[in-house]
Amino acid sequence: MMKRLTLNCIVALLCLNAQACTPTSQDNATTAVAPDCMPAETAPKKDMEQDTTPLGAKALIACYPQFIKAYKNNTIVLADGRALPYDDGKAKTHEEQMDNADIEDMFAQAYDTTIWQPTKNYEPGRIRNEELMKYMYGKNANDVKKHLVGVKWFKQQLPFTCINGAADSLRAVAKDLEKLPAQFHKYFDQSSSFYWRTVRGSQRLSAHSYGMTIDICTKYSDFWRWKNPGKNESDDIVYVNRIPKEIVKIFEKHGFVSGVRWYHFDTMHFEFRPDLLKASGM
Ligand SMILES: [Zn+2]
Repeated sequence: MMKRLTLNCIVALLCLNAQACTPTSQDNATTAVAPDCMPAETAPKKDMEQDTTPLGAKALIACYPQFIKAYKNNTIVLADGRALPYDDGKAKTHEEQMDNADIEDMFAQAYDTTIWQPTKNYEPGRIRNEELMKYMYGKNANDVKKHLVGVKWFKQQLPFTCINGAADSLRAVAKDLEKLPAQFHKYFDQSSSFYWRTVRGSQRLSAHSYGMTIDICTKYSDFWRWKNPGKNESDDIVYVNRIPKEIVKIFEKHGFVSGVRWYHFDTMHFEFRPDLLKASGM
């Protein structure tokens, strides 16, 4: 029985690695991070055209070129020819933005890497448009699984999506983290990544569903609900974080946003959102 299980695991891992990174809607797949989505100092210089395209739309086009082709008449034009509304024009509370985000809402809060004690409801990256995410990464668990590849993560091998260069970016994160002194390595034990599920205590789909998000070791991490038992999302809460800044900065360097910077903190949580970093001037 044990032998059989081990064999099945090996076969599953081999299959995972063999998956091609082919987006469902486009033929010209690439696993590399889009050159226009590189940090400003490494990106090729371009004439800044004067137009009315919002920063968020520009960042989406630059970071996800195989999926997002243009911004036109308050819509995002997708590679499959559809157009998604950009700004639905509705005034929303913070919770309404999270429950029913249009694409504009995803950029409502700039990601500020100087903030380590977030003020009430400051949580850039926590607001996501589900339709856009599902279009890029997969509309259900099986769809997402088609694009998962194995990424070596310290003593583990984690499934991560190769879409938009996410797996390559996680590999780059691991390479940099490995260079940190040995006392940092405990933070990466028993990490987890892909899991199609809703956010704890809500109906929203977790970013883990898309395969572009990792949770590092929970033993040294803090989640706002665990530290503020009985509190609702609209209540005032106490902020706690034990994850060193060095770790957060390495993830950010490679296109990930961190739950350390969220008022509703989720300090184990790192999510691939180069578009938000780019729209925030990083
Ligand atoms: Zn998480």
